[in-house]
Amino acid sequence: MLQQKQADAAVIGAGIVGLATAYHLALQGRKVVVFERTGRALGASVRNFGLVWTIGQKPGTVYERALYGRSIWKEIAAQTGLACAETGSLHLAYHADEQAVIEEFAQTANVHCHLLTPAEAAQKSSAFKQGGLKAALWSPMEMTVNPREASAVIAAWLEKAKGVTFRFGTAVNGIQMPHIETREEKWKVDQVFVCSGADFETLYPRHFSAAPITKCKLQMLRTVPQPHNWQLGPALSTGLSLIHYASFAHCKTLAPLRARIEKDFPQYVQYGIHLLVSQNGAGELSIGDSHEYAPSVDPFDKEEINQLILQYLPNFLQVPTLQIQERWHGVYPKLTNGETDLVLEPEKGVTIVNGLGGAGMTLSFGLARDIVAKL
Ligand SMILES: Cc1cc2nc3c(=O)[nH]c(=O)nc-3n(C[C@H](O)[C@H](O)[C@H](O)COP(=O)(O)OP(=O)(O)OC[C@H]3O[C@@H](n4cnc5c(N)ncnc54)[C@H](O)[C@@H]3O)c2cc1C
Repeated sequence: MLQQKQADAAVIGAGIVGLATAYHLALQGRKVVVFERTGRALGASVRNFGLVWTIGQKPGTVYERALYGRSIWKEIAAQTGLACAETGSLHLAYHADEQAVIEEFAQTANVHCHLLTPAEAAQKSSAFKQGGLKAALWSPMEMTVNPREASAVIAAWLEKAKGVTFRFGTAVNGIQMPHIETREEKWKVDQVFVCSGADFETLYPRHFSAAPITKCKLQMLRTVPQPHNWQLGPALSTGLSLIHYASFAHCKTLAPLRARIEKDFPQYVQYGIHLLVSQNGAGELSIGDSHEYAPSVDPFDKEEINQLILQYLPNFLQVPTLQIQERWHGVYPKLTNGETDLVLEPEKGVTIVNGLGGAGMTLSFGLARDIVAKL
């Protein structure tokens, strides 16, 4: 006999999207239960750089959501002790075409950033090669959290401080509104939020297959802790990222840069490789990443991709050690229509929240705030 339980809202998935949704529901005083299939979150939310990457976001609503998310991460860090470093970021320009893009961006984008000369950039970080640097784009807004810790810390905090109930190791295989049945319990709820990340197959598969969404596989590397408490400082990024992030898309100077990268780095374009380096609280550097899009993800990692990432590093990075201790891949859902989120109502009382692509750590809190406000 299943135990009968009741809540105002159920959230399926304890990745960052589910946690952000549970947080905003709890703020409204709702009784929330979160179901997570695995014993702890193991999806994209623990496999990323941990960057709250405001500078890469589309201007307008999306950028505002990023700033809001930043403020919530700071609040959570203050409440929980989660390491959250306000590192800022540097986009390094070693070519005239890269310099042209960051100059245009600094002049035209309505975001917190400005250009630095090579000497000024050197004041911010000793982790990049100074020889050949033409200019850098400095943004003070980016932050780094440790993704391996963040989901578990937030879940524990939501449970303790906000009264959210968690059911880890509990897959939800079907929803019959107003009920959700698991192996041991039957919950009656008013609202369900499906935050199932890259699992499009279990819940509402027909809605996912009809949506403009695919999966993106990313390969990542992590170094051993840097010695002697060496600090990276700002997260580092290069010209390859300028053609990756939507925020730079309006720059007229992007076309020649893209053309050069396509000519000189065809394999990087083929595998969607751009270079980001962040450092977590343990002193390790997270380095990545590649982007391979397909509805079914290849389980086998390509060593060729790892080598391409490693080969590019000496172009800009100088750090005490690049000894790699871990390699892994993550998968996130990616919208194919250029949008930044997928919010569907497959049946009354059920909301699918998905499609945040490579910006879930940055945008989940803002998106969840807006969805919950509309209820
Ligand atoms: C390598 C990599 C680097 C990235 N870097 C950054 C970054 O630096 N900054 C940034 O902002 N974003 C980054 N991202 C993107 C970000 O990680 C994702 O957008 C975000 O984690 C997506 O969160 P999610 O909750 O939708 O998915 P997930 O974290 O995958 O969570 C979904 C959860 O739902 C659970 N679930 C699914 N179905 C069920 C079910 N039926 N029943 C119960 N549980 C279920 C799964 O077990 C899983 O835990 C990166 C992503 C990757 C892969």
